[in-house]
Order: sequence, then structure tokens, then C-alpha cells
Amino acid sequence: MQIADLFAQGATPLSFEIFPPKGEFAIDDAHDVLAGLAPLDPAFVSVTYSAGGSSNTQHTGEIARMGQEEFGLTMMAHQTCSNETPASIGARIARLHELGIENVLALRGDACDPDSDADMRYASDLIPLLREAGFCVGAAAYPEGHIDNLDLELDLEHLKIKQDAGAQFFVTQLFFENRLAYDFLDRCRAANITVPIAFGIMPFMSKSQISRMIFLCGASLPAPVVKMLARWEDDEESLRKAGVEYAIEQVQDLIDNKVDGVHLYTMNKPEIARAITEGARTAR
Ligand code: FAD
Repeated sequence: MQIADLFAQGATPLSFEIFPPKGEFAIDDAHDVLAGLAPLDPAFVSVTYSAGGSSNTQHTGEIARMGQEEFGLTMMAHQTCSNETPASIGARIARLHELGIENVLALRGDACDPDSDADMRYASDLIPLLREAGFCVGAAAYPEGHIDNLDLELDLEHLKIKQDAGAQFFVTQLFFENRLAYDFLDRCRAANITVPIAFGIMPFMSKSQISRMIFLCGASLPAPVVKMLARWEDDEESLRKAGVEYAIEQVQDLIDNKVDGVHLYTMNKPEIARAITEGARTAR
């Protein structure tokens, strides 16, 4: 199933993101994660890709194949392009074809080494190659702007370049205030960015997880979240419960506002995905 077709079907699709587990039993562990997520009936499941030759880089396509063939899920493989050449990326694209993958999220990944002679600098360099190869292609979007770019208007221009290069939908970075998503959506539509946008939600589970994320991606923390992180800093269970409840509210509000899609960062925790999915569905 091509993910671009999912967005036109009425109800807001709820999809999940997972990452390839590390270690000797990575594939078995991924199997367990998919087995936990499949009964939740996600619209699709995406699998992240680690650039830089780590051992689990090879597993992205394999896990996406497993989700399709063993669990009947619509899957999407992430693919980064920084520090790649058209030839090296060509081999990766061919492998995704061999594995029967239909949907790819085209990403830059970590910034290129400025001294490298890599030809692939931006996601917009990868998108046309994937489209020419017959994939359904999505790309990343940033409601608060990409961390490297302080100029929100310029960031939006770069998003439009990705749409013009062939991106058929966008999936956003996490955010903790839905107002940011709605403002972003208005700015996108005003800038003629018309493809569906699935909004990414990550439940907060611990102070360290959130600190890492916000410094990595530049997302802002609203006061209520800061207060909850401070209040339950040493009470892991209460913080998790608050994080799940907060995510349910975000998801429910996005669905009530009829956004094109909601993408849940599951952190490979089916029980968290279940609590949020069921909470949001019950509230509908
Ligand atoms: P680009 O769209 O190429 O943009 C990168 C920066 O360059 C931005 O600041 C942009 O404004 C600027 N820019 C873009 N085009 C131009 C241009 N033509 N001229 C000048 N500047 C330009 N990372 C991984 O390594 N693996 C993953 O699996 C992964 N999954 C992700 C999933 C989602 C939903 C999101 C939101 C991010 C994900 N990332 C992943 C992180 C992503 O790789 C980083 O955010 C990366 O820094 C940017 O990737 P991009 O594809 O958005 O880059």
C-alpha cells in the first residue's frame, strides 16, 4: 500500500515509528516489537535508519520487509543521504526494491562533513532518485524549524523545495504544544505546501530522554511539561503515566482538528503505543 493514498481515506490515520534494535538479537527483538504493534492496527509503521555504517543500519529494510510479509503491515523505510554519492545511494535503493519496500522517508541525516566531496547534501537530492525508482516518498518537516536554521521562512522554502522535488507527504518532528502544529500547518498552506502532513508525537518518559531530544532537535518545552518533569523527576512511574496522558490529549486534539495524520514515536514500546492508541480511540 502506498502511504500517500492513506491520507485521502477520511479518518485521520494513526501511524507508528520504531527503530532497529541493537545487538545480537536485533531482528528477533524487532519481531517482538512488531508483534506488539500489529494488533493496534496502525495505518503504517516506519523504521528509522542510522547512517554511518553501524550494524543496525542494514536492518532497516529487513525489518520493514518483516512487517509487510509477516504481519501484513504497511511499512516505510527511512533512508538518509548525507555523505552518500549517487552510486552508493543507488545500491541502497536497489536493496530496498529487492526487499519489496514501497514507501521511503527521504532524509538528509546528520550534516555532511563540509570537506567531503559527497554529492548528496539535502533530502531534496534524494527524493527525485527515489521517485524515479518508483517509491512512494515522504520527507521530514519541522513545526518549530530545523535546528540548523533559525530562519523559519527559509526553512519553509526548503520544505517547499522537498515537495517540488517529489515528496508526497511530510512527517513532522515531535512538539509538545499543538498550537505550534496548527500555526505551522497554516504557514505551509499559505506557502503552497499542499501535500498531507502527519504530525509526530513523542510521549515524555523521563527527564533525560526529553533533555536529549530537545537539544538534538530544538523542540521547545511548554511550562506544563517542565512542571511535570520537575514534579516527578524521581518517580518514574508517575512521570510515564503523565507522559502517556499528555500524549493522549495531544493525539486526541489533533484528531479532533482533523489533521492529515498523526505519527507516534513508539520508542519500541508497544505497551506505551497501546495505552496512547486506546486512550485516543476511546476518547473519540
Ligand atoms: P533537509 O531537508 O535536507 O534539511 C536540512 C537542513 O538544510 C535544514 O536546516 C534545511 O532548512 C536546510 N536546507 C534544506 N535544503 C536546503 C537547500 N537547498 N539549501 C540550503 N539549505 C537547505 N535521522 C536519521 O539519521 N535517521 C532517521 O531515520 C531519521 N528519521 C527522522 C524522521 C523524522 C520524522 C524527522 C523529523 C527527522 C528524522 N531524522 C532522522 C533526523 C533528520 O535526519 C535530521 O533532522 C537532519 O538534520 C535533517 O534531515 P532532513 O531530511 O530534514 O534534511
